[in-house]
Amino acid sequence: MDDAGIDYVAFEQEVREFALAHCPPDVRAIVAANGKLTRREYSLWQKALFERGWAAPGWRKEYGGTGWDLRQRFIFEDMSAQCDCPPQYHHGLNHIGPVIMQFGTEEQKKRYLPGILEGEDWWCQGYSEPGSGSDLASLKTKAVREGDSYVISGQKIWTSHAHEADIMYALVRTGTGSRKQEGISMLLVPLDTPGIERRPIRTIDRWHHLNEVYFDAARVPAANLVGSEGDGWRIAKFLLERERMNPHHVPRLTRLLQHLEQLVHERFARSEDERARHAFEARIVLIEAELLGARELVLDAIDDVMNARPLGSKPSALKLKVSELAQRIVDIGFDLVGADVGSRMSVVEGSAGELAGIEWVHNELYYRGRSIAGGTTEIQRNVVARALFGSVAQ
Ligand SMILES: Cc1cc2nc3c(=O)[nH]c(=O)nc-3n(C[C@H](O)[C@H](O)[C@H](O)COP(=O)(O)OP(=O)(O)OC[C@H]3O[C@@H](n4cnc5c(N)ncnc54)[C@H](O)[C@@H]3O)c2cc1C
Repeated sequence: MDDAGIDYVAFEQEVREFALAHCPPDVRAIVAANGKLTRREYSLWQKALFERGWAAPGWRKEYGGTGWDLRQRFIFEDMSAQCDCPPQYHHGLNHIGPVIMQFGTEEQKKRYLPGILEGEDWWCQGYSEPGSGSDLASLKTKAVREGDSYVISGQKIWTSHAHEADIMYALVRTGTGSRKQEGISMLLVPLDTPGIERRPIRTIDRWHHLNEVYFDAARVPAANLVGSEGDGWRIAKFLLERERMNPHHVPRLTRLLQHLEQLVHERFARSEDERARHAFEARIVLIEAELLGARELVLDAIDDVMNARPLGSKPSALKLKVSELAQRIVDIGFDLVGADVGSRMSVVEGSAGELAGIEWVHNELYYRGRSIAGGTTEIQRNVVARALFGSVAQ
């Protein structure tokens, strides 16, 4: 019990019991195997949380948030990870939700926030374009105002989950200025709008979660503009800060590392090769220590958001660290069980006995993208260096 009368031990127990009772066992089995999640798994868990009043741990109460303090928020993230529940789908809750609360009109809040809370509306991010990834401000997808509409033409690429999504928050060019960051706006674009085509991109892990999205004179209501015309760059950066400090990453990686520890234990249970076992254990212990450091940084950043303080370069430092740790964790799993399976993947695809090995192979390939998505490692280093030293040589 603390000064404010919150019994954190009881709260932890309450979250655990709820997670085990209300997150479907088949969904938890996929998460436990570090399998790929689709809209179905995310939505089932989000709906259960909504029923319980826990849909939005990070939102203010007036918008349907929980009103939890910092410690409760992290207990929730820890416990849902420990119980192998899916993370909450980030594009709605962590990305566009806070943007609409901060910059949106009252109509936009009424129209879009309930669908995010209930897990009904599925969002995707239309930022990157061919040639405009790290150099995002050079984007060319055009939106021309015609009466009460914007008419959009151009192309987005690497759009995660666009094939399952209902709405895209898109950065578009509505004008030009002396700097390329000027003349960018954010539009909310229903993906069933005529003139929009989604094409799949298959990645080396054989998963389809990335897409190209083409706009051919797609017409959306002018009321779908977020903030004012030309203010999109400021809004995009606000959103990216939240994307890069996603609070669920550290608890998720902590859980993945626990699964890995278990795997090492099983693998070497009947082995005399003490040296190899110690080598794996040493890699795990080092990551454990670094995750504890990352956890402090996340707590600090969440505290900043809750108290409306500027985040500075913390989101970039976190994104850097978490991407690197994630890759090191799956490297260990791959070295342990994946390499052998990977060399025979075309033969064993579908064989249940080797599924765990296949997951580590897929993860090894999929996690390469973690140091690219949301802004590459090099770009995060530039941001941190600029914060520390004032400027970065180009
Ligand atoms: C798994 C995954 C999911 C993604 N999901 C989405 C999504 O949902 N929506 C979306 O809009 N985008 C998404 N992206 C795209 C992602 O944001 C871009 O891939 C990323 O910003 C890099 O852009 P780029 O691919 O054009 O590479 P480039 O910008 O061309 O970079 C190529 C290389 O040059 C380096 N580089 C570039 N500029 C600099 C510089 N100034 N200093 C130092 N090095 C530099 C980069 O670090 C990189 O190594 C996703 C990407 C991945 C891998």
